[in-house]
Amino acid sequence: MKKNELNKEMQSALQDKGLDKKEVQNVLVEDARTGLDVETLKKAILNNLFYVQGKYPEIATRNDYYMALAYTVRDRLLQRWVASVKQYLEGKHRIVSYLSAEYLLGPHLGNNLVNLGIYKEAEQALHEMGLNLDWLIEKEIEPGLGNGGLGRLAACYMDSLATLEVPAIGYGIRYQFGIFEQDIRDGWQVEDTDNWLRRGNPWEIARREISYDIKLGGYVQHYMDRDGKFRTIWTPDLIVKGVAYDTPIVGYKVNTTNTLRLWKSEAPNSFDFQSFNSGDYSNAVNQKIICENISKVLYPNDETRSGKVLRLQQQYFFVSCSLQDMIGIHLRQGERIEDFQTTFAVQLNDTHPAVAIAEMMRLLVDEYDLEWVDAWRVTTRTFAYTNHTLLPEALEKWDMELFASVLPRHLEIIQEINRRFLDEVTVRVYGDQEKISSLSIIGEGPRRYIKMANLACAGSFAINGVAALHTELLKQTVLKDWYALSPEKFSNKTNGVTPRRWMVLSNPKLTELISSKIGENWIKHLDELKNLEKFADDPEFLQQWMDVKLEMKTQLAQRIVNRTNIKVDPESIFDIQVKRIHEYKRQHLNILHVITLYNRIKQNPEAEIVPRTFVFAGKAAPGYKQAKLIIKLINSVGEIVNKDPDVKGRLKVVFYPNYNVTNAQKIYPAADLSEQISTAGKEASGTGNMKLSLNGALTIGTLDGANVEIRECVGEENFFLFGLTAEEVENTKSDGYNPFHFYENNPNLKLALDQISNGYFSHLDDTIFKDLINSLLYDDQFMVLADYQSYVDCQDQVAEAFKDKVKWARMSILNVARMGKFSSDRSIREYCDEIWKVKSVPVTLNGTSSK
Ligand SMILES: *Cc1c(COP(=O)(O)O)cnc(C)c1O
Repeated sequence: MKKNELNKEMQSALQDKGLDKKEVQNVLVEDARTGLDVETLKKAILNNLFYVQGKYPEIATRNDYYMALAYTVRDRLLQRWVASVKQYLEGKHRIVSYLSAEYLLGPHLGNNLVNLGIYKEAEQALHEMGLNLDWLIEKEIEPGLGNGGLGRLAACYMDSLATLEVPAIGYGIRYQFGIFEQDIRDGWQVEDTDNWLRRGNPWEIARREISYDIKLGGYVQHYMDRDGKFRTIWTPDLIVKGVAYDTPIVGYKVNTTNTLRLWKSEAPNSFDFQSFNSGDYSNAVNQKIICENISKVLYPNDETRSGKVLRLQQQYFFVSCSLQDMIGIHLRQGERIEDFQTTFAVQLNDTHPAVAIAEMMRLLVDEYDLEWVDAWRVTTRTFAYTNHTLLPEALEKWDMELFASVLPRHLEIIQEINRRFLDEVTVRVYGDQEKISSLSIIGEGPRRYIKMANLACAGSFAINGVAALHTELLKQTVLKDWYALSPEKFSNKTNGVTPRRWMVLSNPKLTELISSKIGENWIKHLDELKNLEKFADDPEFLQQWMDVKLEMKTQLAQRIVNRTNIKVDPESIFDIQVKRIHEYKRQHLNILHVITLYNRIKQNPEAEIVPRTFVFAGKAAPGYKQAKLIIKLINSVGEIVNKDPDVKGRLKVVFYPNYNVTNAQKIYPAADLSEQISTAGKEASGTGNMKLSLNGALTIGTLDGANVEIRECVGEENFFLFGLTAEEVENTKSDGYNPFHFYENNPNLKLALDQISNGYFSHLDDTIFKDLINSLLYDDQFMVLADYQSYVDCQDQVAEAFKDKVKWARMSILNVARMGKFSSDRSIREYCDEIWKVKSVPVTLNGTSSK
């Protein structure tokens, strides 16, 4: 039926229902903004091209079409968003509030099309308009508002909360510049700013009317009021305004659309007119810049603390805006402030937002006049804390003087929390000074400091780790005394990833193949992947499985040659290590294996070598020297290996620049082998391990983080295990680990390290890698040399297994079939049931709750 006929038909059908002409017109206009069929989408895209971009097809650019499509999708989100907000406010539901300084969302367009269930329709609509959806999707600049795993976890959790129809708000910071862009020049990392907003952001709505004033610095005075009540006045030396920017987060094939509310800092409206009036224009402008600086840039340190004033200001800024916002929502519901915890369960994503505990106390005691004990009761029933790291250098500490200069009132509050807390503890531990000082929120020393993890533990009703091993190690080491004090607060919540972005969107071919066998239910109920097991010996399915993998490898090979000029063989093993560059993640152990294979070829050019492509990607923190040196080493080794004629193309080493969500989505589906080789006891969970495995890669890994649980699920026969266990690492260290001994006694290891040292890979420059080699030979905190031989032996088993392609494919299928546990839906269900005590609230639209 032609569009006009359809319209006419609808018109008369609607008029039959007794609607007058004007009402009919309204319904049709409404339909143009909400309809999900191909015809309506085409109409809407052209409409937005005209009315939003001010263009017509003959002069529209690719970006114009991207924007027109983005607004078309946004209209459909807004309808669901409004319905969700309405439904939440009508009933009395506990809302999850997720506080995170980082959200590594990735591009929105494709994901929203998947979740709205209109990917195919949009593809068709654009096709009929002579356009290509992929071409528009690639136009989007991703919001890189996070460093790595922690920020990406927050994004997966927002997707699962919406998909499980749980009322939730994510709060964070709208950084004007996200994680830097990485380029590689002469083998070295160079950083460029991430100006992600330069073409505008169609996925957010600025809520100018939702803003809060945030005080910073200054001094505190105390007095007794007329009623004899003790009062506090905090006179700041700076006030900044936080403005809400909302991004709708739609669940998969449900109406539920939650809010991600990110705060931007600005100068307050009332701003320094005095300076303007007194003619001090430049001072007034300076003050404005200081305010805007707070949400200017994301700190690019992963797993290290920074201790900078601006970082503390950022943390406090977003936490205070968020709590004021939540209190407003709670009170507008007609509730009493004392019952705040019945409206919100607030999750702290690591200690970055832990100052929320002191801020909550300040708001309740200073602003809402609650007694201390009542305020403390509310606070400790509101917050729950997720720990993400065992690395001592990542545990946040604030110098007390610095803290006081930014948050003088909060220092007083923390001291009071600590005083009361230690009073209680002293009795419980019967005066054990060591335990008392380990539990104290304030650390003593040449300079006193505030321990944010201790503040988080003291102020939360629940504490969790992110993988079974991690939670056990927390209880035994960093939080040992907390566990002894309150074991009931502790639980494990193993991380998960969303199958919507990391399978359906990024690997449509594999998704289609899986669904052709077991239906589509697995997308929401990932456990159902287990139904694939019965096809693991079906020759036709095995062939299809191998075909999909080969196609994804061929596509990645094309991207690699475009980006790096390196030609790689899609038939070779795609051996992939992509994650932030860090010594504990041991990219250098991987490169030692590359060198070892290379030396085998050099020593016997006829040696049998199963062809491999080593793909590395990941950013190093700009100030992290050893990590940057590891990137240079990878590129230097690649330069020699890739062009050596003896190698005959059997080994290729690729460093794919600028690892981010966009690139991750292209890399994971092409992996045969997933490198998860951190020093046991150092990786809290990892989620890259899950994403790779769900895309059919087999894992080579240590017993670290969630690797332990992945191996339990997929079966030890489908997992390449090597290396020391966490316990063995500790024992080896306490027995006096001597890395030099391994160097002297292992000729292959010695050769590889000597080649790096003497400049074999660096045009005979024997100085570049000195620091790296010295730290391996004389310090080696991360047990690279101790694990080397075990790793190389295990890699030989990998190569042997890969020779039998059908057997490998069978292992890959079983592996995917058994990965159902690692959906973020499962993680979120556990948080909902065991920590937050929240239930789902289906959102209805036109009488139904899902597409
Ligand atoms: C999943 C992901 C990570 C985390 O990877 P790990 O291997 O768990 O460290 C980091 N960055 C991006 C872009 C990701 O998608």
